[in-house]
Amino acid sequence: MQVKAFGAQSATSPIAPMTIARRAAGPKDVAIKILYCGVCHSDLHTARGEWSGVRFPTVPGHEIIGRVTAVGAAVTRFKEGDTVGVGCMVDSCRKCYSCDDGLEQYCRGPHGFQLTYNGWIDGSGENTYGGYSSAITVDEHFVLKITHKESDLAAAAPLLCAGITTWSPLRHWKAGPGKKVGVVGIGGLGHMGLKLARALGAHVVAFTTSPAKVQDARDLGAHEVVVSRDAAEMAKHAESLDFILNTVAAPHDLDAFIALLKRDGTMTLVGAPATPHPSPSVMGLIFGRKSLAGSGIGGIAETQEMLDFCARHGIVSDVEMITPAEIEAAYGRMLKSDVKYRFVIDMAAL
Ligand code: NAP
Ligand code: ZN
Ligand code: ZN
Repeated sequence: MQVKAFGAQSATSPIAPMTIARRAAGPKDVAIKILYCGVCHSDLHTARGEWSGVRFPTVPGHEIIGRVTAVGAAVTRFKEGDTVGVGCMVDSCRKCYSCDDGLEQYCRGPHGFQLTYNGWIDGSGENTYGGYSSAITVDEHFVLKITHKESDLAAAAPLLCAGITTWSPLRHWKAGPGKKVGVVGIGGLGHMGLKLARALGAHVVAFTTSPAKVQDARDLGAHEVVVSRDAAEMAKHAESLDFILNTVAAPHDLDAFIALLKRDGTMTLVGAPATPHPSPSVMGLIFGRKSLAGSGIGGIAETQEMLDFCARHGIVSDVEMITPAEIEAAYGRMLKSDVKYRFVIDMAAL
């Protein structure tokens, strides 16, 4: 099946219309008409070839909301007409210890997990293509149920990456009542981090380089907001945070944040800049038994848990709707930290 898509032919060519092939639904597959797709900074890193191993042409997009158009004979959880989501993964080995634990994003099978875009299709070596397209076919194990109300569907799309990438570490490091949690970088991921940490009951502190975002960060759920370039404001939070979620998409000084952790505190990096951060000071970690960690998206079961939690609590992303023709302009604004707070593409314009 040939479908319309938007993608990049090379690291230096802009996102432009193209045509890609999608498989017909096999026995365990769900065929989906895509309604909305969020724009993640990972899409930009990929389209510009900033991460190693990007294969072109590439069709980004892994915050997909759509409607089921057909299901294979062995599909049990979905039927035609259902509203569904697809996030960052479309397959994994389903046999390794990570897959057994429901953490498919850490699959240790021969090919690891299969990314929704720029992933290897097992056996063929072909590239996978993402959600900047009109349709996608996905194994039902990697399809999520969406129970948000119809008018919230576009704003629910970013939950499929920004939501789960912040939810998974917040849950793993037990953000909740009695915990002081920092969120660094108020973009797509960071604004979801604020909403989710607040909903989980933590005391939430936002750290931003953009003074213009201070009021927004409060409205998004932060109890306190710090402009991180202001050393005096930073010093007020020294040795006070149990957990910091760092979503920044560019290399920066990690020591300034490690200094804000309490004894035994952890800062988890989810931002994945194209070039490394300056190495943090070992002493800053030793004196306080502090941890620096990383976290990748989230497993399918915890993604469903997050989606259901958000539907129950009426949580969605703050979005700016765009057409496919506006993706390049959206990337330009993202590079200037000027997103309020996630772009979502309306695929009706395809
Ligand atoms: P985004 O919307 O562009 O937000 C990033 C935010 O980081 C900006 O809004 C800005 O916030 C801050 N920032 C940007 N440049 C900065 C700089 N030079 N110094 C300090 N702060 C800066 O991006 P996103 O979609 O949230 O993605 C963030 C990162 O996470 C990307 O690298 C992306 O690839 C990665 N990611 C990782 C995973 C994972 O599984 N680990 C999943 C998805 C995305 P302020 O204006 O508030 O400072
Ligand atoms: Zn993403
Ligand atoms: Zn596996």
